[in-house]
Formats: sequence, C-alpha cells, structure tokens
Amino acid sequence: MDEVTERIARWITEAKSVVIFTGAGLSTESGIPDFRSPGGVWDKYNPEDFYFDRFMASEISRWKYWQMATEMYEPMKKAQPNAAHLAIAELEKLGKLDCVITQNIDNLHVRAGNSPDKVIELHGTAMSVSCLSCRKKFDREKVQEKLKEEEKVPYCDSCGGPLKPDTISFGQAMPVKETQEAYERSSACDLFIVIGSSLVVQPAASMPVTAKRNGARLVIINRDPTPCDGMADVVINDQAGATVTALLEKVKNIMAE
Ligand code: NAD
Repeated sequence: MDEVTERIARWITEAKSVVIFTGAGLSTESGIPDFRSPGGVWDKYNPEDFYFDRFMASEISRWKYWQMATEMYEPMKKAQPNAAHLAIAELEKLGKLDCVITQNIDNLHVRAGNSPDKVIELHGTAMSVSCLSCRKKFDREKVQEKLKEEEKVPYCDSCGGPLKPDTISFGQAMPVKETQEAYERSSACDLFIVIGSSLVVQPAASMPVTAKRNGARLVIINRDPTPCDGMADVVINDQAGATVTALLEKVKNIMAE
C-alpha cells in the first residue's frame, strides 16, 4: 500500500493538471449517509419515487420528496469536513489542484477551504432552494423551519410555484455551465482521481472515462469496486479519510525533497 501511495503521490507532483472527482462516499466519514452503501438513503427509499417528472406531477410526490430531502439535509447541516476534505483543500494550497468536480451537494469542499471557483458542483447544492416557476431563491434553513411548522409542501410566496432544493434529481436537466466545464477539465487533465463514488450515476460517471480516453492517468479510491476499475491505472479499495491523508503526506515529503 505504501508503495502504491508513493506512486500516486509522485504522479500528483509531476502532473500539470490534477482533477479530483468526488461522490457521496467522501462525506460518509462526516456522518452523511451515501445513497448506495448498506444503510444508505436507497435502503430506505425507492429512487424511482424521486424522478423529476414525478415531483412536477403530483402533490403526494412532492411531499415524499420533501420528507426524503429533509432527512438528508439534517445530518448535512451539522456535518463538518473530514480528513479527506481537508487534505483535498491542502492540495489546492500546495498548487497541486486544477479543480474538484463533485457530485456532492453538502458544500463541504468549500467549508474545508477549497476556493469556490475551484469546486464544480455537478449536482447542485442542498444549501439553497428555488422556485421552479419564477426561479426566486430561498434560504434552505428558512424553508425547513416553515415546513416543520406547517407540515406541507412549500410553495413560492411570489408566484405560487413549487419550491425545490437546488439539487439535480434523476431526470432533471444538468446545469449547463458546470457540466460543460467539468467535461473540459476532465479532457484536459493528466491525472484524474476519483474519491468515494460508485460511478454509476450518469453523466457524472462518464467524466473518468473522458479523462482516460484523453490520455490522463486514472486513480480510483473507493471502498467498493466500481464499473471503471478495469480502466484505472490504480484502484484503492479503502476509506477515503486515511487514504487521502496518507497521500497528502507523501506529496508534501516529495515536494520537500
Ligand atoms: P453512491 O452512494 O452511489 O456511492 C458512494 C460510494 O462511496 C460507494 O461505492 C461506497 O463504496 C463508497 N464509500 C462510502 N463511504 C466511503 C468511505 N468512507 N471511503 C471511501 N469510499 C466510501 O454515491 P455517488 O457515486 O456520489 O452518487 C450518488 C449521488 O449521491 C450523487 O448524485 C450525489 O449527489 C448524491 N449524494 C450526495 C451526498 C452528499 O452530498 N454528501 C449524500 C448522498 C447522496
């Protein structure tokens, strides 16, 4: 393991452009459940109930959605960045990070110290809410307080449209600017490191494939196997916190040589 960590650390120090791609597995050590691990969100809920067209189609679906979203939001607002988030922020300070492409909606990269302009939030953020009709923005915490008081689906106080957290549901359009930028950065980098993602959600999961096809080295750090393992240069099936911390230490040692 030590030798593998050393090899990846050398790749980081030698690379012109390092892209880090993160998923829900990065934040489980901060106490936020992921979707697909045992005990994750999809053990409790059926993902098919949360397709965007269902949200738009019925009050019952919107209520179910808000119940699930509230359950995810509660641990998220209390969560603190963990060792892996902090190590990624440190890589930026060392000048070794082109950007973080994240599927996470918990804002923990920025709270760990990454600059907002280095973090591409591919699936939006759970920290704000918008009206789907007039796009008016709302503070998530205030919407949650009202939801708790009234126990009904929240609607816009200006136009009456349905409110939804600024996250991307299955079947909802991806954010154009972020998706385009993520593809550009993935194509242009020479080292692409996946941390804590099952790599099954599209189009996000096509980013490592894009990077590899354009000549980048691909490293996958994930507790469980992923469909992209076969094309990776190195796969580490371990916890993100300890692995990324060890990697950062090696990078610092090499830079000090
Ligand atoms: P996922 O749930 O599909 O997969 C998570 C992966 O992380 C699993 O393969 C698991 O083996 C691995 N993992 C879990 N804990 C780990 C750890 N401590 N160290 C290393 N690996 C670990 O998540 P995904 O691939 O990100 O895709 C699902 C969607 O989940 C994304 O769209 C994302 O928006 C959403 N999501 C986000 C959060 C969050 O913001 N924290 C939480 C839940 C779901």
